[in-house]
Amino acid sequence: MSVVDVIAAKRDGREIEEGALRELVLGYARDAIPDYQMAAFLMAGRLRGFDDREAAALTQAMLDSGDRIDLSRLSGPTVDKHSTGGVADGTTLVVAPLAAVLGMQVLKLSGRGLGHTGGTLDKLEAIPGMRVALSTAELMDQVERIGVAVGAQTADLVPADRKMYALRDVTATVDEPALIASSVMSKKLAGGAAHILLDVKTGAGAFMVDPDDARHLAELCVSIGEHAGRRTAALITDMSQPLGAMVGNALEVVEAVEVLRGERTGRFADLCLELTGRLAALAGQADDAREGIALARQALGSGAGLERFGAFIEAQGGDPHIIDDLSLLPQAAVELTVDSGQDGYLSAIEPVAIGRAAAALGAGRERIEDEIDPAVGIEICVQVGDELRSGQPVARIFARTDQDAERAAHRVRDALTVADRPVAPPPLIHHVIGAGGTGSQ
Ligand code: URA
Repeated sequence: MSVVDVIAAKRDGREIEEGALRELVLGYARDAIPDYQMAAFLMAGRLRGFDDREAAALTQAMLDSGDRIDLSRLSGPTVDKHSTGGVADGTTLVVAPLAAVLGMQVLKLSGRGLGHTGGTLDKLEAIPGMRVALSTAELMDQVERIGVAVGAQTADLVPADRKMYALRDVTATVDEPALIASSVMSKKLAGGAAHILLDVKTGAGAFMVDPDDARHLAELCVSIGEHAGRRTAALITDMSQPLGAMVGNALEVVEAVEVLRGERTGRFADLCLELTGRLAALAGQADDAREGIALARQALGSGAGLERFGAFIEAQGGDPHIIDDLSLLPQAAVELTVDSGQDGYLSAIEPVAIGRAAAALGAGRERIEDEIDPAVGIEICVQVGDELRSGQPVARIFARTDQDAERAAHRVRDALTVADRPVAPPPLIHHVIGAGGTGSQ
């Protein structure tokens, strides 16, 4: 089929053979097909949808567009975890060292923040000296020594996704389940881990706002992973409000350290323990998720997770003393407390608005080439369901200037909705697919 035939077939809802999809993806990756034809195909696909067979074919073609990492020389078990993205979602900083303490090997390739969502690499680079541009050999040696290494995805790994994701971003075609599943799973498969845990977000701050759509995406990812011979599971978790309290790069490192010190509990800490425990069950380091979560709790309570986080920072050139002294992290010049303007019950914290407010302070970027400021951001001191009293602090703004802080305070107030009657907090985990149980929580 010619490229025009493939676009027309998708436009009209006709079946497309695997070979034709493969040619399209590989041709685009080697610049033989122009952006305008791929954009037309993506929009036709966004409107018509893709079946599971097409999703698998897209994934395989994207995977075949570049290099793969071979982790077979590691002693294992090798694990990877991936979040589909959200606000105040720095779980990797806690889960990776805890998983390493439980005997798993975590070699993770991460990305940068874009729009309202943060990125693990930006958070790690808030730690003075921390290096994320490691070669595959460096990453593998470090994982063999201390169980954890996090690096930047190289240009040779799934180049088709790099181009297609950038194009989807500017053509309003990101939020299609098969396009997301093939993008995520091609990168996970290329990363080489034998066990993959996905944290698929749902709610106002996620690509999949509706939990049933998130479930469909999760099932698709799990099926692609299992067919490729990887043990794969997914949690569907809440992103109807920011996950943690901190939004901003150094601030999210602060939150991770406080969780690993045992000083901070709540939704973020609970999800970190759940993800670590489920990974342990998936990788055979625990009999089931319940035992895995208990082991994760022990690794946290004993201080072993914090110690491993320090070793990880040191191995990548960062200052490990930050785990004892958080004032060594970049500090914002201005701090402003935002108070509640009324009594009532908090019924919503708009995650996209909070993410955008933090990005406007300098914590995030509109375009991938924008510079970020590691010190700035927002601490949200309340959660949906909390009873509020007028004058009670609801947030703290960390900014470069008083003007920036005032603007952010305004945006934060607008992002909160207060009701007259008590409001039930949303569930943290909606469903688990694979990893010791399929079902609702
Ligand atoms: N994350 C990805 O890596 N790809 C998508 O398409 C969406 C989220």
